[in-house]
Amino acid sequence: METKDNQSTHPPMNFSSFAEMQKAVDIVGTSRHPTNKIAATIFGTDKDRRPYSISKTNYWPKPIAEKIGTKTRIGNSSGTVHAETACIMAAPYTQGASLCITDPFCPNCAKNIAEAGIRTIYIDHKGFAKDFAERRGAQFSSMSMQICEKAGISVFEMNRKEKQLRPILEIPETFTPREDSPVEVEQFRTADENTFRILIEEQAGHHKGRKFAVAIAKNRRGDVFGLSARSHPAVGYTMQADLDEIENPEGKYSFMQEPVNRLLMHAPRCGLKICGGLLFCSQVPTSREQVNIVGAGLTSITIRSMSKARDDWAFNAMKQLSKAEILTFYEL
Ligand SMILES: [Zn+2]
Repeated sequence: METKDNQSTHPPMNFSSFAEMQKAVDIVGTSRHPTNKIAATIFGTDKDRRPYSISKTNYWPKPIAEKIGTKTRIGNSSGTVHAETACIMAAPYTQGASLCITDPFCPNCAKNIAEAGIRTIYIDHKGFAKDFAERRGAQFSSMSMQICEKAGISVFEMNRKEKQLRPILEIPETFTPREDSPVEVEQFRTADENTFRILIEEQAGHHKGRKFAVAIAKNRRGDVFGLSARSHPAVGYTMQADLDEIENPEGKYSFMQEPVNRLLMHAPRCGLKICGGLLFCSQVPTSREQVNIVGAGLTSITIRSMSKARDDWAFNAMKQLSKAEILTFYEL
């Protein structure tokens, strides 16, 4: 069975983090975002130990840009996929990978980075000087960094010109985060509707009324796996030990990681790709989850309770995306 080997690729060999950051800096100007232009590079080795490096800017997924446009929000979410999250969803295998980012990252990306098993982040020092950093400074230094500390992610500020790295947060390589409700991965024989239904019913019994998500995914050899997860605080947080922090988030962000986002980030952590038509959520996913589903290249999701969602924004997003024929919502 091939799922999560905890063999870390950190620090990745044959890479210069300075050169990887340069790739992000080289494309950041191509972001279509009028004010917040951000780019990132993810680098590491795939499951065959072949090195890879992928650079992305923040962007509007094509169906959203073409059918809804870049000026309209999807529910209460921007229609963009953040650069860091785009890198994770495009990567062949993220466990132990590294990430270079032109700017300090938001708490939502921090949660995604943690779920993807990334161990090292480099931030360009110029990113700390921009407006964006000033505006998001509080959320970065409190929430984003707290999430990294709990998940065991080292963070460095990089000065490309001086070839210097300043540690912001250093985590020992042997550190393993606590995970009291990890994404479950189970091997199956076939990726079909029948397997999908079996897994949904099995998990419905397990999660009992809580919001949960299920997906069928394949690795590069075509082996089939079922993934499932419920809403849970970011990797390393436990409901018992960290309740104070979880209940006191910064601004519009939350320490909770929604289940569809967890699966979208956990699949690349295991070297898996989610199969089209085989993604399920027990209720309507949040606006942000829906935008990320589109960003992952998926065009449908199966839902059990169409009348249930975290907030009304989720229903608005569902209306927008289904009316524009970007995402089809099937009721189970
Ligand atoms: Zn972000």
